[in-house]
Amino acid sequence: MKKKVSVEPAYRIRHLPPYLFAEIDRMKQKENKKGTDLIDLSIGDPDIPTPKHIVKAMKRAVENPEHHRYPSYEGMLPYREAVARWYKKRFDVVLSPENEVLSLIGSKEGIGHIPLAFVNPGDIVLVPSPGYPVYAVGTLFAGGKSHFMPLLEKNGFLPDLEKIPVAVLKKAKLMFINYPNNPTSAGADAKFFRNVIRLARQYNIIVCHDASYTEIFYEKRPLSFMEIPGARDVGIEFHSLSKTYNMTGWRIGYAVGNKHILAGLGKIKTNIDSGVFQAVQEAAITALDTDDRVLSTIRKTYRERRDTLCEGLTKLGLSLRKPDATFYIWARVPSRFNSMSFVAHILNKAGVLTTPGNGFGSAGEGYVRFALTAPVHRIHEAVERIGKSLSY
Ligand SMILES: *Cc1c(COP(=O)(O)O)cnc(C)c1O
Repeated sequence: MKKKVSVEPAYRIRHLPPYLFAEIDRMKQKENKKGTDLIDLSIGDPDIPTPKHIVKAMKRAVENPEHHRYPSYEGMLPYREAVARWYKKRFDVVLSPENEVLSLIGSKEGIGHIPLAFVNPGDIVLVPSPGYPVYAVGTLFAGGKSHFMPLLEKNGFLPDLEKIPVAVLKKAKLMFINYPNNPTSAGADAKFFRNVIRLARQYNIIVCHDASYTEIFYEKRPLSFMEIPGARDVGIEFHSLSKTYNMTGWRIGYAVGNKHILAGLGKIKTNIDSGVFQAVQEAAITALDTDDRVLSTIRKTYRERRDTLCEGLTKLGLSLRKPDATFYIWARVPSRFNSMSFVAHILNKAGVLTTPGNGFGSAGEGYVRFALTAPVHRIHEAVERIGKSLSY
């Protein structure tokens, strides 16, 4: 008789935090089976298509046989130059395309891999809670330990750096921060970034700033961490074309900043991936050179949606801050609910799909995240249906 292999998952995948979103997926399937007209405000994936001129550039590039071969892991020089040009234009930050820009297969890829380059088993990584789940998972895969920094409303959803115990700081190797923030939609000012740099210098901590949402803003242009003097001595910044140009499916991003940190991440990458399809990089060059008027139109669409949803939810009695950036609304759930029971209630009774705050970490409990990824008339309808569902 042939012996079957027993499939034993490694500890690193057996010990993943419970995936709340799987439970929501199940609830969603159930509603779909019932034929519910679902309004999906749950995922951070733009419903607006990629601008046409970028798609055209891709079509042209894909015809070129030069692009059919293996790309270089660090990205084509013209792509890295386009990133540098964009940083100069947008933030007045000068980067060397040679060694201060690294291409990524989406910023998620870089965020997930950076701990492999710098975190030894047992090292501590400072991770915001609530936060993008990949920070903690990348840490876990590298054998590191996440120390969660709660983002509290009373602190403007910035981590209270003074509350991190000294013993933790001494063992900390790396810190993730993310502003404009997903899921809380909060912004950070230069003073906060300066404090981060001071702390990083004092305790020798690598700072990884996730800047995915700097271009989705309404009033003031958000800062890049790289604009702050000293940032390049302590860290790097992850950025992506996904949210800025509605290119989540294309899988292209980049990291910029400290060349030694980028070289470490690059070393991981040369060993496990072979870079981004060059036709995609060509299209990304076109994207990065996009006229700001195209982005203004996208922002205007989100602004209308933001105003509609904020006004509607506030009228229903939900407590929230109108965001200055990102396409998320982070609201407190009404007091008779917790995050999960509220999300389940409005899914079952109103057919509106949202994300429970605790799915992003325990400090997100008591909140719900709405994504502005549906047209205004659907957002109106969502508010109306939620209102009805709350009256019984
Ligand atoms: C969407 C998102 C990313 C990942 O973007 P990709 O470049 O598509 O991988 C990273 N960080 C945050 C906070 C995000 O919301």
